[in-house]
Amino acid sequence: MPQAVQGPPYPEPQAESLARLFSDLACIPSPPGAERGVADFIVAALRGMGLEPEEDAAATATGGQAGNLYCLVPGTDRGGPHIVLSGHMDTVVPTDSIEPVLEEGVFRNARPTILGADDKSALAALLHATEILRSSGMAYPAYELLFTVSEETALTGIKQFNPARLRSGAGAVFDSSGPVGGVVLAAPTQTTVRAWFQGRAAHAGVEPEKGCNAILAAATAVSRMELGRLDEETTANVGLIQGGTARNIVAEQCFIECECRSHNEDKLARAVASMLDAIQYGATQVGADVRVASGPEYRCYRLSERGGVVRLACRALRDVGLKPELKVAGGGADSNILNAWGIPTVNLSTGMLDMHTPEERIALNDLILLTRVIMALVGRSSEITLRTRKAGKGA
Ligand SMILES: [Zn+2]
Repeated sequence: MPQAVQGPPYPEPQAESLARLFSDLACIPSPPGAERGVADFIVAALRGMGLEPEEDAAATATGGQAGNLYCLVPGTDRGGPHIVLSGHMDTVVPTDSIEPVLEEGVFRNARPTILGADDKSALAALLHATEILRSSGMAYPAYELLFTVSEETALTGIKQFNPARLRSGAGAVFDSSGPVGGVVLAAPTQTTVRAWFQGRAAHAGVEPEKGCNAILAAATAVSRMELGRLDEETTANVGLIQGGTARNIVAEQCFIECECRSHNEDKLARAVASMLDAIQYGATQVGADVRVASGPEYRCYRLSERGGVVRLACRALRDVGLKPELKVAGGGADSNILNAWGIPTVNLSTGMLDMHTPEERIALNDLILLTRVIMALVGRSSEITLRTRKAGKGA
């Protein structure tokens, strides 16, 4: 038995292995629903470390190729699991192939599309950190890994995961942009509003009087909506419009898809109500029928700066010489769902920049830092009072 050193600092990440890992993951296309290749890669990597990852049945519900992957990493002698660490396997849909190149210490895609550092930076760092901990011979507590599918489509993958599987009392998702050091304390609720306007078709030149234009109804509705940044906590958008069949036919149908987000549930409710009023107004003005569907995709959360998981994240960041940057997110992440399950979960920056664009990039140095942060998080996870859930307990 090697002389166990109690906790951090752990061995340094190996830049070359980490770069290869990231590059291999980035090369595998994985738009939402098509995560099979990435899931297989992760399963093989974890099995190679002597671990036993398990895949859930999310694929059946989402219609995708793969389910969420769960893996308990047994600790040495320090209890746990105290924390679940998570990243998502899907990316937004790339418009070209992905050929990661490392130039001057920064990964970019040689092709004009996303790099997929969102969220393969997290996957690579989580795998590399686990590899190092497993082979270090040093003491660390057990922890849980959760790799999700279909995060980019309103968190549909993690919503299929059974929270009763998780035993940790806290979580860290690695899915925020910006330099390593960012800690997301709060994220908004997002509600989607869809409206189907039903008018009446007629020949546009011969008898337009007999028609009722669904595009006009939708346009009237949209023109009455308050969109953009409504206040410091609330935003609204119309993001999709589809309608009509031909230039010379009064449009019979038109569909719009909108959203509202807010960190404040009351403000969100008001923004959604006002959007629904505008939709009704547009339909009534034009004499069209309208059917609407609206509902929250995920709920907002706000963690206390003094809460256990936030303090843990800040300590881990300071361990590696970083100054924690507490921030508020404008978008949702799997952390919204983990928090909704009653597992206080931070979302940490991975170093990725300009995600969802062809300019997406990440510095190898940030991947190294992220790996060190993950090891520090695991090593320190037993220090603070985090409730460890009983296996099999529902949330
Ligand atoms: Zn992401």
